[in-house]
Amino acid sequence: MKRLLSDVYLHLIAGVIALGILGISAHTLWMDRQSLWQEAEKSSRNVLTTIARDLDGKIELLDQSLKGTMEGLRHPDFQRLPPDLQYRMLFDRATSASFLGTLLLVDKDGNLVADAGPVIASRALNVADREYFIAHRENSHLGLYVSRPFTNRAPRSELAIGISRRVQDKAGGFAGVVMGSISLATINQPFNNLSLGKQGAINLFRGDGVLLTRYPFLESQINQDLGGSEHVQRLMQAKSGTFDSISPIDGIRRIISFERLERYPLVLTVALSVEEIFAAWQRKALVLSLATLVLCCAVVGLTVLFQRELRRRTRAETKLRRIARTDDLTGLPNRRAFRETFEREWRHAIRSGSSLSLLYIDADFFKSFNDRYGHGRGDEVLRAIADSLEASIRRPRDVAARHGGEEFAIVLPETDLAGALTIAENIRRAVASMETVHEGSPYLTVTISIGAADSRPSRGSDRSVLLDAADRALYRAKASGRNAVCGPDSESPVLQPPLPHAAA
Ligand code: GH3
Ligand code: MG
Ligand code: MG
Repeated sequence: MKRLLSDVYLHLIAGVIALGILGISAHTLWMDRQSLWQEAEKSSRNVLTTIARDLDGKIELLDQSLKGTMEGLRHPDFQRLPPDLQYRMLFDRATSASFLGTLLLVDKDGNLVADAGPVIASRALNVADREYFIAHRENSHLGLYVSRPFTNRAPRSELAIGISRRVQDKAGGFAGVVMGSISLATINQPFNNLSLGKQGAINLFRGDGVLLTRYPFLESQINQDLGGSEHVQRLMQAKSGTFDSISPIDGIRRIISFERLERYPLVLTVALSVEEIFAAWQRKALVLSLATLVLCCAVVGLTVLFQRELRRRTRAETKLRRIARTDDLTGLPNRRAFRETFEREWRHAIRSGSSLSLLYIDADFFKSFNDRYGHGRGDEVLRAIADSLEASIRRPRDVAARHGGEEFAIVLPETDLAGALTIAENIRRAVASMETVHEGSPYLTVTISIGAADSRPSRGSDRSVLLDAADRALYRAKASGRNAVCGPDSESPVLQPPLPHAAA
């Protein structure tokens, strides 16, 4: 039971230590991961803010150019001006937008009226089939419209997006479109200087989910309508935010920060690869996990070793204790064990108010037995006497011990003098009836003498009174001629059979 309990404690301690180690390393890793995640979020937000401001400025400038053209058109004197002044009036503001690709003014049929450029254009161009033209023609409330990427029909053809506004006549009818284009290269240019890792990405979506441009730039990836993808729908739902998702464009998992431009239907995203952010962390996690595993195994292993050692020691100690309390000739408890038992039962008798009896037993004429039959034979007889003592006591708490030499003692708890005398007499008879030949004894066999005494001790009783009484009783049994059982006082009977030759 005690061992089981200490085993349980040991397992509990080992478990707590192992769990502690696991918990600490898991917590550390988790905190690390959280702070990496926050850092990534922060840096992608910073990048986002910068490029969004830049883009917003460019679109604004472009829009100012469109508005300038429209104002020029509406000017009452416009029609009366000569062509070069008309040109100046339309495109004056456009010249300040150095990045501007083209700026077109088309009439209600999509025919080019004028375009900004170094010289006054005199080319034929019809944009009636262009998406932005159709959109403005069909809907008078579009305001500023952002087109899908297209290649200019101009000689220096480059991928660009157009932003456009509807031109109306005085009655509010559709009179054409003014459109300024900005090349994707221009939009992408500031992205090149950012450090977003190998798998970082920047996307520019139109408000409806069409991908306008992207960094790293790959022509095949742009101009897709991703409005149906869950990923892009998340972008469209809020003004700004951060989440992680698997890109519908290249399948890479990224932390994505997004922001919708304040005044224009455009959404910018800056996305950092989760794999890249956590690459170093993953290595660290692996090392730490392995180390934790090793530590936990070590704790468990050490516990098992410790437990084995503990068991071995407990066994050895138990064995030693048993040896230290056992007489090796007879296997009975020795004098020391007898003392312990007597002490324990004495205290028990005080507590329970019961009587405690004691028998002192001594082999008769044993010196002469040894002399006659040898010490070895004497030992055999002592063992036989021990066996018959053991056989004569029945209650579990009765203890027979070898007191030393050819002397034995028996502790009989909860037994009064009458009971003790009965047991003593049984023992005396049992030994006598072994009929071990002893020609040096008047009884001609090996016999024993027994002194019995009892006590009903109370607190403060002197235990030596009982020990001495048993000793004196034995002395009297010896004095009476041996092979006898004697009680403590002179009044108590001496149980003694007649000598064999007396009977004869
Ligand atoms: P008494 O009837 O008065 O008891 O006589 P006794 O000879 O038995 O008493 P005594 O005390 O004079 O002698 C005890 C003898 O017991 C001495 C010794 O030879 C013998 N003896 C004591 N211990 C052992 C033992 O371990 N083995 C053997 N074989 N004999 C022992
Ligand atoms: Mg003796
Ligand atoms: Mg003796």
